[in-house]
This record gives sequence, structure tokens and C-alpha cells, in this order.
Amino acid sequence: MDGTAMEKGNEGISDDSQGAIFESDSEHDDVDDVGTGGNATEINIMEGATFRDVNHFRAHLQDFVIQEGFQIVRQKNEKARVTVICKEKGCTWRVHASPIADGITYMIKTFNPKHTCIRDLDNKSATSKWIAEKISPSLMSNPCLTVKDLVISVRQNFKINILYKRMWRARNMAIEINVGKYNLSYAGLPNYGDLILQKMPGFIKGCRPFIGLDGCHLKGRYGGVLLAAVSVDGNNGLHTVAYGVVEVESLGDSSVDLSPTFIPDRQKGLSDAITTFFSQAHQRVCCRHLYQNFKSKYPGILLRDHFWATARAYTTVHFEREMKAIKEINSEAYDWLDIQPPKIWSRHAFDIRAKSDHITNNTAESFNQWISKCQEVYGYIRGYDPTASRFD
Ligand SMILES: [Zn+2]
Repeated sequence: MDGTAMEKGNEGISDDSQGAIFESDSEHDDVDDVGTGGNATEINIMEGATFRDVNHFRAHLQDFVIQEGFQIVRQKNEKARVTVICKEKGCTWRVHASPIADGITYMIKTFNPKHTCIRDLDNKSATSKWIAEKISPSLMSNPCLTVKDLVISVRQNFKINILYKRMWRARNMAIEINVGKYNLSYAGLPNYGDLILQKMPGFIKGCRPFIGLDGCHLKGRYGGVLLAAVSVDGNNGLHTVAYGVVEVESLGDSSVDLSPTFIPDRQKGLSDAITTFFSQAHQRVCCRHLYQNFKSKYPGILLRDHFWATARAYTTVHFEREMKAIKEINSEAYDWLDIQPPKIWSRHAFDIRAKSDHITNNTAESFNQWISKCQEVYGYIRGYDPTASRFD
């Protein structure tokens, strides 16, 4: 997201509005330890309270005003004194603070906590920018937090209600605070790739030559498809061999001197590409998809049980016994299955070099499910330079 769009996004609730206290960003940087951290401690204002300096006091006041959900007007806002009243005409709420003898430490000299105005429930003082700064640490440790999660969390921690749309903008700003601009993040990819090569020497040494392929659509600003090749390591844990972001799923240009076993998702194009680029490779079909096709023609619990028993058969004897059972129930179902080469769907006929007996594409699908909550975030690694052509 670019800065201009963000500022426009504030729609009149920018820090220049009467309700805000900060005069500039740099002032706010000085007071980053005030009222942050997202705990539920109530923020109080009382006569005689002291603050490190004028900025410390301003930040505290900003947090207080947001907690209480009203807007203020600055009558005086300078180093020598700060006087602030409630924005509503005729309301008696007022606070006045000024430095003590050292000229720096700030003290609240007078405070009238009583509002005579009718309170507005929409908390306009909580600007997107303010919220973004409050939520960015939580979003850093858990990038999967949704707008809804954040609305609830801010309600609990700051006792204020934020409308969904404003929180959506705040979340985008917070992500930008944490990971930088969306459109520039692509530049970080080469370093990221180097790091992966360094830390994870990889597939060839530690994995079974068995690769599940699948793609999922990205929800981020630039869309696209995240393709993943997922293998199984010696401990049968998932290992992501490769992933990349493309505009559409299509043929790439690569060749690898390997003879692994692939289990692509059900797309014909992927299967053709494997044949083209990995001429030595074996392929399996995902039996869940095969069964969906089978079931649409030949439904029934009995046939289902025999189908899966056939797919899981470790020996030819077992396989043939199950096929025979299917033939006795429905000879057309048998003919349909008999056309499928056993080496692509039944364990007894798999290439043993794969050292894996997976009959479904659950490795790649588990990976997709795992990242599904973060598909938007993954969109960020994408980015692109708007001045360059889009997919070069
Ligand atoms: Zn008031």
C-alpha cells in the first residue's frame, strides 16, 4: 500500500483534526513506551500526576481520550503549558498541565473530569494511525490475526469500539510498519532465498523422492497463485521443496535430473508438464480425487470400502481379491477401475524408490491448509514495482 492511499484512507480523522494531540510524527516517536503494550490497564488523569516531559503528557492524554471515547480541543498546546477541553460546546471537562520547577517534568495542575455533554459513541480520536501503532506488535508475532480478531482485541485492551473499515485500514498500516511497503517487499526475496539455501540444504539429502504438487490462490492485493511442491522427509514430516508465485498455473521452463514420484493435483496441465520436464518421473493420482470420479458413477458404501481397500493393497493377491469383490458387485465399476494403471493408484504397484506409500495428495493440501490463514500475508512477499511491467 502506498503512503498517499493511506493518508486518504483516514477520511478526515487524521492527526490534524481537532481531536488529536500530536503535532508531528517525531513527537510521537519519543513517547513509544507510553500506554502501549496492549494491556488492559486503565489510563487515568488526576491532579498532581507527573510526566517525563510535555510529549509524555500528550501521549498519555491521547490514550486517555481514546479510552474514554470523546474528542478534545487544544486551547493551549506548547512546551510551557497545555490546556485541553472537551470538544462539545459548553462541556466542562478540562485539563491543564505545565512544567514544574525543573522546566521539563510535566504536572497536571488542574483537572475537571465532569462531562456535561452527551457522549458520541463513535470514537473518532482513535485514528487508523493510532490503532496501527497499537496493534503492530501483536500483528508482528501473529500475522494471521484477522480484522475481526483485532476489533475484539482492541475492544478488550482499550475499551473502545472500532468500526471494521477503520480497523481494516489500521491493519494494512500496521503490516506496513512491520514488514515495509507491500510493493517493495519483493526486493527481499533473493536474500530470503539465499537464507533458505543456507539453512535448509534440502530435499536431495533428507527426503523421500516423493513430491505432492498443488496451487492455491492468494488473497493479497496482487492476487496470483502460490504453487507448492511438498515432499515427505525421513520422519514422514512435511518438507516444502519449493514454492513460487505465478500469475496462472502453467508450464514452466525447468528440468531436473531426478526420477522422483509426483502426485499432482487433479489438473491435467500439471501432469503434462511433469511428463515433459521429468521424463524419468513416476506419477500417482490422488486417490481422493479418483474416488470422487468413481463415486459419481458408482456410489454406495460397499463399493467405497472395496475401492479404498484396493488402493491400500500392499500385495497383488490382496489387490486382485478386492478387484474381484468389486466385479461381483458391479462389473461396470470394475471395468472403469481396471482401465486405471495400478502403478498410479494402488500401493502394491507403486515405484518402491519413492519410499512413500501416500495414496492422496494430502502433503500439498496440508501445506495449503496450513498457509490458508496467511494467504494475504504471503501476498506481501510478492509485491511489484509499479513502474515495471507486471510479471517480468
Ligand atoms: Zn464533554
